[in-house]
Amino acid sequence: MKVLGYAAQQAKAPLRPYTFERRNPGDNDVVIEIQYCGICHTDVHQVNDEWGGKSTYPMVPGHEITGIVTRVGPKVERYKVDDRVGIGCFIDSCRQCTPCLEGLEQYCKEGPNLTYNGVEKDGKTRTQGGYSNKIVADENYVLHIPDNLPMDRAAPLLCAGITMYSPLMHWKAGPGKRIGIIGLGGLGHMGVKIAHALGTEVTVLSHSNKKRDEAKKMGADKFYDTSVDTDSLKNLESYFDLIINTLSVEIDWNRYLNLLALDGTMVVVGIPEKETTLAASSLIKPRRSLAGSVIGGIQENQEMLDFCNEHNITSDIELIPIQKVNEAYQRLVNSDVRYRFVIDTKSLDGQTE
Ligand code: NAP
Ligand code: ZN
Ligand code: ZN
Repeated sequence: MKVLGYAAQQAKAPLRPYTFERRNPGDNDVVIEIQYCGICHTDVHQVNDEWGGKSTYPMVPGHEITGIVTRVGPKVERYKVDDRVGIGCFIDSCRQCTPCLEGLEQYCKEGPNLTYNGVEKDGKTRTQGGYSNKIVADENYVLHIPDNLPMDRAAPLLCAGITMYSPLMHWKAGPGKRIGIIGLGGLGHMGVKIAHALGTEVTVLSHSNKKRDEAKKMGADKFYDTSVDTDSLKNLESYFDLIINTLSVEIDWNRYLNLLALDGTMVVVGIPEKETTLAASSLIKPRRSLAGSVIGGIQENQEMLDFCNEHNITSDIELIPIQKVNEAYQRLVNSDVRYRFVIDTKSLDGQTE
């Protein structure tokens, strides 16, 4: 089927209208009319090919997708026409390896089939993402969007939300724990809201003072401007049980590892272009850990959406027409968004290539 989207034709190129083919729906597939798609910093990294030549073009980015089911294959059981659904960072996986069988499809040994800049199950057809008007996916990789969540503000939950929810659950955030979040961007602001709802003390470490009041409104207990609060950061030495580092740029990890208490863990979720140097002394005393985490599995994604529904958690968004996407990328790189750009795909109506 013919689909209209916005694509980058080569690395660092501005996104432009682009018509492409998606597969005709199979027996287990649903066709989704996309309503909204969030702009994740990963989209910018991949459009610009910042991760070592892994990008392929033309590339239609977008993996924070919400929309409405318009058609279902004959064997589809979980969805019907008009259902409110979402798609996150992958649209399939091998379904046979141990991680897949344990609901950890994000760690599929063959690599999950990414929503864009990846390949379909056939191993050759390139996947294209949510900056477009329709998508076809196997029902097992589609999520229900609960009724109380508005579709535009729910879209960023599909990547930013789950990327924070998963490590917060894995490292058991909750009452009595002190959590630090480095960077109050798309991921960071979801982390603050979810950590707060889990009843944990949450501190934001931000590189300016501009977001202080907003962070407090989201539920942050403490806020530090890391560009000036050098003395305060000293006071935070050996303070946190868990730090989640969401930065899209490289920083001195050692400075932040020093803020971990005995047996504390820093989980890296941000993926900067450049490598970071690590000093052994930052980890050894007092028995600190450094870990990583990537998005979450399908079942965990659904749990996260239900949790957000129950706690009235949605993303703070700036809704934009797709024609503003290149401007939005620039603003995102400058940390100038409160707190996620979301594309309203209605703006594709009447657009020509
Ligand atoms: P974002 O909205 O741009 O947030 C990044 C935040 O980093 C900014 O808001 C800013 O927060 C801080 N920052 C930016 N430039 C900085 C600088 N020069 N110095 C210090 N701090 C700076 O990006 P995002 O969408 O949240 O994504 C963040 C990273 O996570 C990206 O690298 C993305 O690819 C990655 N990611 C990983 C996963 C995963 O599964 N592991 C999933 C999604 C995204 P302050 O203004 O508060 O300092
Ligand atoms: Zn993402
Ligand atoms: Zn697998």
